[in-house]
Amino acid sequence: MQLERPSSAAEAVAALATGRALAGGTELVPLLRDGIVEAERLVDVSAVVPRGISGRTIGAGTTLAELESSSQIPAALREACRLAASPQLRNMGTIGGNLLQATRCWYWRLQFPCRLHGGDRCHAREGQHREHAIVANDFCASAHPSDPAAALLALGARLRTDRRELNIASLYRLPTDGDRSTTTLEPGELILELELPEVEGSAYLKAMDRQRWAFALVGVAVARSQGQTRIGLAGVAPIPWLLAGVEELDRATPLPGTAFKVEIARTLVGRALAML
Ligand SMILES: Cc1cc2nc3c(=O)[nH]c(=O)nc-3n(C[C@H](O)[C@H](O)[C@H](O)COP(=O)(O)OP(=O)(O)OC[C@H]3O[C@@H](n4cnc5c(N)ncnc54)[C@H](O)[C@@H]3O)c2cc1C
Ligand code: SF4
Repeated sequence: MQLERPSSAAEAVAALATGRALAGGTELVPLLRDGIVEAERLVDVSAVVPRGISGRTIGAGTTLAELESSSQIPAALREACRLAASPQLRNMGTIGGNLLQATRCWYWRLQFPCRLHGGDRCHAREGQHREHAIVANDFCASAHPSDPAAALLALGARLRTDRRELNIASLYRLPTDGDRSTTTLEPGELILELELPEVEGSAYLKAMDRQRWAFALVGVAVARSQGQTRIGLAGVAPIPWLLAGVEELDRATPLPGTAFKVEIARTLVGRALAML
């Protein structure tokens, strides 16, 4: 395997035509080690993707630890970063890498030939699925693990890549028979920056199996701006989920083992809204 260290974003994008971006490596390296992802060429983007916070702009190379400790960052994103992973992982893991992390579904991680791997079955639907999705779970029932993505959805963040600008919701797509990917990122596309609009208030709450260093059973982010409130959820759908309102949970489609999550989501949404 080859490791490239480009000296500009343009050089990185050129190398990504045949390589894979490596930032903090906390997600990619285990996937490579386990043979779930294959790459002949790794492109270390840490020196060329912007890092740091300037007003409402966040470099995609900024670590979760830097975000959680910055007073410039709205409460929902600070708290989502603080409650993610462990201090060591937050010191290495970047916000760009976090948004692109793969599912934690163990069938997928153990390389069962499930739908997300291109097969024709969702093993979790029939098997163990306590941590899985409660909405949009018909094709693949995995639950997206990113806490910061839920916060960024509620905050209405926008992304800038080497080739376009998009809102955070447009970064994600539900997998289908024709296309199993969960993001709209094109091959070799590099996320460079995030832009946060002004908000008047925001909050993030996370239910976990233990109080620290666990993925969200349900994560709820809320943000208010110009009289509108947005709600972003983690751990409830194959992608970070923008909830139209708490009533949407009445139409949830939990699996037998995930029904308990609906009540948790309802309760956390109510509590988070009361914090605004
Ligand atoms: C044990 C464990 C527990 C965790 N717990 C949580 C949790 O509770 N909540 C949570 O939200 N997350 C959690 N995480 C995820 C963690 O936050 C991510 O692994 C980390 O943020 C990824 O960032 P990275 O820089 O290390 O990404 P990398 O591993 O370097 O990259 C991840 C992916 O993003 C791509 N990539 C990286 N940067 C860019 C870019 N700028 N443009 C385009 N593509 C890019 C890479 O090619 C790769 O596909 C956990 C991870 C582990 C291992
Ligand atoms: S939930 Fe998704 S990733 Fe998990 S087994 Fe089913 S199709 Fe695969």
